[in-house]
Amino acid sequence: MPNKKEPIAIIGGGLTGLTTAFYLKRAGISFHLFEKKERVGGVIETANENGFIYERGPNSGVLSHPETVELFEHLGGKCSLELADQTAKKRLIWKGKKWHALPSGLVGGINTPLFSLYDKVRILGEPFRPKGNSPEERLDEMVRRRLGKSFLNYAVDPFILGIYAGDPSWLVPKYALPKLYSLEQNYGSFIGGAIKKKREGKSEREKKATREIFSVKAGLSQLINVLEEEIGKENITVRCTGLQVNKGENGSYSITHGSKNETFNTIISTTGGHEIPNIFPFFPSGETGKITQMKYAKVVQFSLGFKKWEGIPLNAFGGLIPFKENRGLLGVLYLSTIFKGRAPENGALFSVFVGGLRKPELFELNDLELTALVEKEFAAMMGINQFNPDLLKIHHYKYAIPQYGPESKEKLEAISRLEKENPGIILAGNIRDGIGMSDRIKQATSIVQKITGVN
Ligand SMILES: Cc1cc2nc3c(=O)[nH]c(=O)nc-3n(C[C@H](O)[C@H](O)[C@H](O)COP(=O)(O)OP(=O)(O)OC[C@H]3O[C@@H](n4cnc5c(N)ncnc54)[C@H](O)[C@@H]3O)c2cc1C
Repeated sequence: MPNKKEPIAIIGGGLTGLTTAFYLKRAGISFHLFEKKERVGGVIETANENGFIYERGPNSGVLSHPETVELFEHLGGKCSLELADQTAKKRLIWKGKKWHALPSGLVGGINTPLFSLYDKVRILGEPFRPKGNSPEERLDEMVRRRLGKSFLNYAVDPFILGIYAGDPSWLVPKYALPKLYSLEQNYGSFIGGAIKKKREGKSEREKKATREIFSVKAGLSQLINVLEEEIGKENITVRCTGLQVNKGENGSYSITHGSKNETFNTIISTTGGHEIPNIFPFFPSGETGKITQMKYAKVVQFSLGFKKWEGIPLNAFGGLIPFKENRGLLGVLYLSTIFKGRAPENGALFSVFVGGLRKPELFELNDLELTALVEKEFAAMMGINQFNPDLLKIHHYKYAIPQYGPESKEKLEAISRLEKENPGIILAGNIRDGIGMSDRIKQATSIVQKITGVN
């Protein structure tokens, strides 16, 4: 952490950068935020069109850390959390030729066709299986060892598609799912650990992390707009392409973009890993290579809106399609069920995902080919004869979701060395500490707490 503080530069105006700036401002610390694009918000962007309120990037987050709830508290009602509707509790998994509800209780678990009888019986022995002793073990190995193959294929695989658009045979639980990894390490079992943790009780602060699904009233851009307003436009520079950091005098750093050159003592970078070598040209390539080797899932997101929905009932959160089913889609989110008012009455709004780590070739299709694929798959899975959406938008993300795989240890060690050898530089963003919106808010909060020394 920096031994010298102000002035501070934040590079990147996504959720991580904006939350960092917001808390620095609250702490009375001077800073400036530099954003490459013409607007802040990063991948978060809500659009309002033709009676539909849709997201171009993330659709919803999980209240997995108290920091997320506290950010909204600190924003003092200027924008409000919106929690998922109760009708969106059910999660669907595609198997064979139809959707099946992911069971949440014992009876559902016994009756579901998603898992094999062998694994259903075998799961009773999960609390008694020895805990893993390889911190670098991949997720598929861990799940096969503790739960069985059908749980891997029809529970964990789709869960991982929904969060990471990823591959359980690449992700390493210690870095990608640290809470699950700790359950096994600390309690010896997922099931036993979950029960014991529940019994241990929670502090009032921990209780804020309800794990409910959230968005923001009128869309996630409302949060971005309020953060931008609170930070103050005078503290933000957009359109700074080609930005570079160089070492200055007395341990300071200079930031150059265009013809401008400014000096800072602390630099907080919040961009994706692929940007780091360009931003910090003085970092040894051997070290940055350990960061850029991290894979990203490439994802295409379709926003589909129907003014009159005539397909299957939409009383669920949405459906995920296990890789084993070999279909063209990763999943479908029923957004107008999750959050009310996102589509005209009797209509429906969906996000449909294509690509992911195991199907990168789909990302290379042109929009006509992608639309033909989505039309065929969506119509078959969602029970419509005619594919005539009133809204069809396609959003491409080459660097959608970082994958915390076997390179994570080397990557995190390189980040620590670079920060140690360059006091005042903080390498943040989703290259570490989690990929979800709540993780981003938590990371930003803790960076500012370390700078100010105030919790
Ligand atoms: C399609 C998609 C769906 C997602 N779904 C979910 C979800 O359902 N739930 C969830 O919790 N999370 C989801 N996520 C993840 C979540 O959106 C991210 O974790 C979060 O928004 C990332 O915020 P960030 O600020 O770290 O990064 P970003 O939003 O990527 O912001 C980084 C910023 O840095 C800027 N930048 C880059 N390079 C430079 C440079 N050289 N100089 C200056 N600025 C630069 C960029 O322009 C950008 O504004 C999703 C992500 C994507 C892409």
